Amino acid sequence: MTNNTKQIIDITKVQNSKINEVDFSSIDFGNIFTDHMFECDFIDGKWQQPKIKPYQALTLDPSARVFHYGQAVFEGMKAYKDDTDGVWLFRPEENYKRINKSSARLAIPEFPEDYFFEGLTTLLDLDREWIKKGVGNSLYIRPFVIATEPAIAALPAKQYKFMIICSPAKSYYSGEVRVLIAEKYSRAANGGVGFAKAAGNYAAQFYPTNLANNDGYQQIIWTDANTHEYLEEAGTMNIFFRVNDTLLTAPTNDRILDGVTRKSVIQLAKDYNIDLEVRPVSVKEIKTAAQNGELKEIFGAGTAAVINPILGFGHGNSKYELPKIEDSFASLFKEKLMAIQYNNAEDKHGWRYKI
Ligand SMILES: *Cc1c(COP(=O)(O)O)cnc(C)c1O
Repeated sequence: MTNNTKQIIDITKVQNSKINEVDFSSIDFGNIFTDHMFECDFIDGKWQQPKIKPYQALTLDPSARVFHYGQAVFEGMKAYKDDTDGVWLFRPEENYKRINKSSARLAIPEFPEDYFFEGLTTLLDLDREWIKKGVGNSLYIRPFVIATEPAIAALPAKQYKFMIICSPAKSYYSGEVRVLIAEKYSRAANGGVGFAKAAGNYAAQFYPTNLANNDGYQQIIWTDANTHEYLEEAGTMNIFFRVNDTLLTAPTNDRILDGVTRKSVIQLAKDYNIDLEVRPVSVKEIKTAAQNGELKEIFGAGTAAVINPILGFGHGNSKYELPKIEDSFASLFKEKLMAIQYNNAEDKHGWRYKI
């Protein structure tokens, strides 16, 4: 933290921390927030003085455009604490670039890089105690932007609020995950906003995901909207398939979120000389591989769970279970990524960012 930071950001600290009221041994994901939050308003064509203040409710006019037209984007990242109390982020410049890419697509003004990094580092430094040591513990960080202008004409807003809130997280275990391959619904279309972390992408997934839940699946693997023949991603994770010893994943396009975890897995696969094909992956080839016993693994990759093994999948009326295997790619990638994130391994690609 530089002195300069203190001048840029107007800081109001809490009088009494809430931290002693929190039972860190039993926290559900995303329900508890740290003492402070970062806030910066866009008014009169520019981002105003950024502020850090006690975490609190917002007061917004009911006509604020975000409520009517969904102009909202967000990011998800984590901070990790090492054994000597060092606090680290993982590739935060990727999240910075991506939130602006998302914003641009939703006609939201881009946020300045110095405000982003100074806001983030100052906030994390203030709420450092909320980041607990021990592999699995982390602080989930949620930057987001909403259209606040009180006006309901269907136009892009002239006023926005950029915020960062933080929530302590335990090791994320999603339980047993079986996925349904989408045949009817789509999460994204060509030329749409699938590549952006737009709030509306999630709203649109909830209903079809509920239907899949009723059929015993925890998540959906989305397919291309035109033909439903190619596997694209799960709603909060990019997806990888292992056929024999080859790792397959779809190339990013305007329907797929370009995940930081996905990117990092691809790099690690190269580092560990794992055969990797980044190309369209068809439903047909994955079903055939499953029938022949060649499909060894499916796993999701995303910040929340890092790597999430998938135990089985369904398509139409067919259901497939994956074999239980030792030496899975999923556990290799999870272990290697977490070792870098928690400062327990060499960081040869320069992914760690010290707070
Ligand atoms: C955030 C997100 C991911 C994962 O991205 P990471 O940068 O790895 O966390 C994947 N798919 C969708 C739709 C997402 O919103």
